[in-house]
Amino acid sequence: MSEQRPSALAEVEALAGRYPDIPIEAIFKEDLLRRGMAWSAAALEVASRYKPKAYFIFSFDLVPIAQMDQGENLKAPEEIRLSGGPYGFRPVVVSVRLNPASPYRVECLDGAPAMQLQGRTIAGVELQKSPEYYRRSLSSGKPIIDIAPTIEWGYLLYLTAFRLCQYFGEKEECQFCDINENYRQQKKAGRPYTAVKSVEEVLEALEIIAATDSESRAYTVTGGSITSTLEGKSEVDFYVRYPEAIEKKFPGRWISKMVVQALPRDEVERLRDAGVAIYHPNYEVWDKRLFEILCAGKNRYIGRDEWIGRILDAAAVFGPERVIPNFVAGIEMSRPAGFSSIDDAISSTGEGLDFFMSRGVSPRFTTWCPEPLSVLGRTQGPAPLEYHVRLLRCYRDLRKKHGLKAPLGYGEPGLGRAAFSVPSFIDVLPPA
Ligand code: SF4
Repeated sequence: MSEQRPSALAEVEALAGRYPDIPIEAIFKEDLLRRGMAWSAAALEVASRYKPKAYFIFSFDLVPIAQMDQGENLKAPEEIRLSGGPYGFRPVVVSVRLNPASPYRVECLDGAPAMQLQGRTIAGVELQKSPEYYRRSLSSGKPIIDIAPTIEWGYLLYLTAFRLCQYFGEKEECQFCDINENYRQQKKAGRPYTAVKSVEEVLEALEIIAATDSESRAYTVTGGSITSTLEGKSEVDFYVRYPEAIEKKFPGRWISKMVVQALPRDEVERLRDAGVAIYHPNYEVWDKRLFEILCAGKNRYIGRDEWIGRILDAAAVFGPERVIPNFVAGIEMSRPAGFSSIDDAISSTGEGLDFFMSRGVSPRFTTWCPEPLSVLGRTQGPAPLEYHVRLLRCYRDLRKKHGLKAPLGYGEPGLGRAAFSVPSFIDVLPPA
């Protein structure tokens, strides 16, 4: 008689059997991203000596800080790397999304952390050392982890210049986004968390990083949308100052990336002229009706057709492979407005991918984390795991169909090499 398998593990194994072209490491990674992970007290104590979670823009957790009884928000690492174990994992980097109720749990076994799913070990857990600059502060006393944290195993400096968004309140904020609420909870929890970073403090942080670090390869300048003005500046006027100053002081030291709204062509040209190499005008969800509902603020201020037109204009400015609009994978299945069938969700999202990729544009995605401080995450859990597995296949196959290499600015693709931690498309693309 066969042994009874726990349901979450059985689901992963069944999907690995049904889609043998997707490595099981990527299926576990997607499941970890959608469900989050719990930590035992012992594992958390070990992790607290490594590179901590910086809350670089959103919470990316499945519970609010107020429900973290072990102080996970202060002790958990930014990322873990899974390897070995009974499935013979090739190394795969996973962003840490906290959820004390998750069936995934990091335990300490013989002093070493290991990932378990419903009590069964699935892989070993490697932690990343804190970089030297994480112990340093600016002359103002602000810690560098506030001003210039790194993700992607140290590859990407994440410069959230503005930690709030002017799409404010339920009717304007993107329904999957907790940027404003997360800012409030971090301040309440006492984390040093600068709302608006000055150009000078970003430069001061980068000076220390440039002198002490050899891992970082790229930086992203981003933050919430500016629909009126911030410090008297429009969105482009506010954000363009950062790459301008960074490229002047450290020309070509890092790949320069920017995540802001889809801006008109003349403003996009200003970003390019300031030294931005890669532009991310995130379109979030492809379906027209869902964009209008889930991104109501963007829809009202800019509109979906204009947004798409601006992405194509930006392709002419940067070169299409340097325009990398993100979508949030899974929100097209959110209730109450989303698709109820996986077939319909993949068909819609695949249509959007095909639209952009056929024009040489290089869309990418992050795996939706239903954060409880966002509108959608208050009432529901994630999209089905099978949707995420099928999306990986759809994305990989469409890139191949259109002859597109892996997106620029994410480090190496391929299982065992990739470091991008928030989706696993990078793990399933062929090595460069
Ligand atoms: S534009 Fe939408 S996704 Fe971006 S920060 Fe504002 S609310 Fe969040």
